Amino acid sequence: MRQTDSRPLVAPLPAPSMTLDGRFRCFTPRQVLAAFLVLIAVVPLVLPEFYVTLLNYIGLYAMVALGLVLLTGVGGLTSFGQAAFVGLGAYTTAVLTTSTDLPGWLAWAGGSPWLALGVGLLITALVALLVGSLTLRLSGHFLPLGTIAWGISLYFLFGTMDILGGHTGMSGIPPISIFGWQLDEGHEIYYLIWIFLLAAALTTQNLLDSREGRAIRALKGGMVMAEAMGVNTSRSRMIIFVIAALHAAASGWLYAHMQRFVNPTPFGVHIGIEYLFMAVVGGAGQVWGAIVGAGAITIMKQWLQDVLPAVLGATGNFEVIVFGLLMVLILHRARDGIWPWLARLVPVRGNQIEIDHAAAALPRREMPTRGEVILEARNVTRRFGGLVANNDMSLHVEAGEILALIGPNGAGKSTMFNQLSGVDTPTSGEVLFRGKSIAGHESREIAHLGMSRTFQHVKLLPKMSVLENVAIGAHLRGNRGVIPSAWRLDRAEEARLLAEAARQIERVGLGSHMHDEAGSLALGQQRILEIARALASDPCLLLLDEPAAGLRLKEKQTLGDLLRKLRAEGMAILLVEHDMDFVMGLVDRVVVMEFGQKIAEGLPEDVQKNPAVLEAYLGGVE
Ligand code: ADP
Ligand code: MG
Repeated sequence: MRQTDSRPLVAPLPAPSMTLDGRFRCFTPRQVLAAFLVLIAVVPLVLPEFYVTLLNYIGLYAMVALGLVLLTGVGGLTSFGQAAFVGLGAYTTAVLTTSTDLPGWLAWAGGSPWLALGVGLLITALVALLVGSLTLRLSGHFLPLGTIAWGISLYFLFGTMDILGGHTGMSGIPPISIFGWQLDEGHEIYYLIWIFLLAAALTTQNLLDSREGRAIRALKGGMVMAEAMGVNTSRSRMIIFVIAALHAAASGWLYAHMQRFVNPTPFGVHIGIEYLFMAVVGGAGQVWGAIVGAGAITIMKQWLQDVLPAVLGATGNFEVIVFGLLMVLILHRARDGIWPWLARLVPVRGNQIEIDHAAAALPRREMPTRGEVILEARNVTRRFGGLVANNDMSLHVEAGEILALIGPNGAGKSTMFNQLSGVDTPTSGEVLFRGKSIAGHESREIAHLGMSRTFQHVKLLPKMSVLENVAIGAHLRGNRGVIPSAWRLDRAEEARLLAEAARQIERVGLGSHMHDEAGSLALGQQRILEIARALASDPCLLLLDEPAAGLRLKEKQTLGDLLRKLRAEGMAILLVEHDMDFVMGLVDRVVVMEFGQKIAEGLPEDVQKNPAVLEAYLGGVE
């Protein structure tokens, strides 16, 4: 799916370095991955046991940090409670593989570490769903606080339950065996740990690189937009919370069988904080940053523990203090972590997304016939306390026409737009979309019905390419979920979604910016991008809130041409505008508002001569 073009997909981080003979020397991502795999495979054969043990710990930590990269780095949800999920995985297998008197209904899972892994993941998923449904709704700092509370409770639960051995813990956990081969040496379980970690990293990378992944990447800073494009953001949050918990539990399972012993100490909240540090220090939004972060922190702690007592000539936990200071320094000096800095050292060819223009077109909704009433507001009134922002407003939009809602600042246009788009509910009156009331529907449901919108203040994901931003618009036209995406079984659908996004980008004239970062576009182009994104959802009604605001004359003309083209194709378009000149040469009908009320309605040339309108515009707030 990826092509070896030298144009980078996201930030052009890895600047190609010049070799001595002056030519560019670059590696493909595949080559770098292959080199890494070889390194991982060879290391235990050449390094002493001590380093292998260290690498085992790094692998286990990295797996938990990887979950946090997804949850915190990408999704923006902070959890201090991951260590508790590690404990859940570890204790489940400890109980199932050592207990001699399991209750009858659980006896089948006893004795086998692999069955215990299955049970542990299942329990973790259930607990994560429960904890997630309680905490993910909490906003701002309540979520991290919630995870601390949950981390502490589970930690004490591990320490107090008799069946779990209290604070002494549980010993006698058997080693894992694969087809009779017992992994009881450090370098043996090493391979299992790193296979788990690499599988987790690759599947996470695949997931991020898919329809579900774009929805997840929109969580940080793009929730309102994503919902308006049909994404269920609560579901996406839950998905990453559960995945992060499962990674942690798998790490705990491996840990228990490596140590052959568990007690509550490694599952406390302070370890949870350390996991978070690993994810952040590595490079919070980067899958491979998890390994770098876990490695850097583990090695640094080990090194400080060895060096400090010698330097200071005294024993004590000095490393904790120095570690803390170093952490502050890193977070201060390298906000994006170590990964971006490391990536620059190894020039990798940018992996630009390849578009398969031959991919089958996505199915389209049945379009209404020209002249059919698509959207209708009936006597809509919206009060904010004593203020009547919309007063008894009625209007309608037909298929194949452009209706403009205009009026001076503060007239109530944006409020009306919110009623029409279902973002807000009228105090009285109703809004019908294709004959059905949209009151009480989520914006993603309305998007599914065929209404798509742009935002007055552009809402896009600035670090994502134009192509991927527009592909979010096509989200509701696909259905492949997390598991197919993680294993790349979604590629046929993904190709169709991306081809559709590319078509819409070409259609609005942004073809030459397909792979640029959305944030690098001029404001006018960003507004056009939003229209392409709206079109990618295959709407029959486009709602545009002040699309011409901040545009230069040339950009306004381009926008006008585009809207005319869409109208000719039968699209219904409603635009809220402030700019009279832009509207007059373009639209079919105009509704004029002032002080929350409709003061005129009709053809642009008639409305323009209407004394009430002239008064509103010339004598009003303008
Ligand atoms: P326009 O988009 O035409 O400039 P708005 O719809 O934004 O006008 O605002 C209309 C009036 O409603 C203004 O007086 C504004 O202060 C008020 N208003 C808008 N939204 C709210 C709100 N959420 N709470 C209270 N007053 C509001
Ligand atoms: Mg407004």
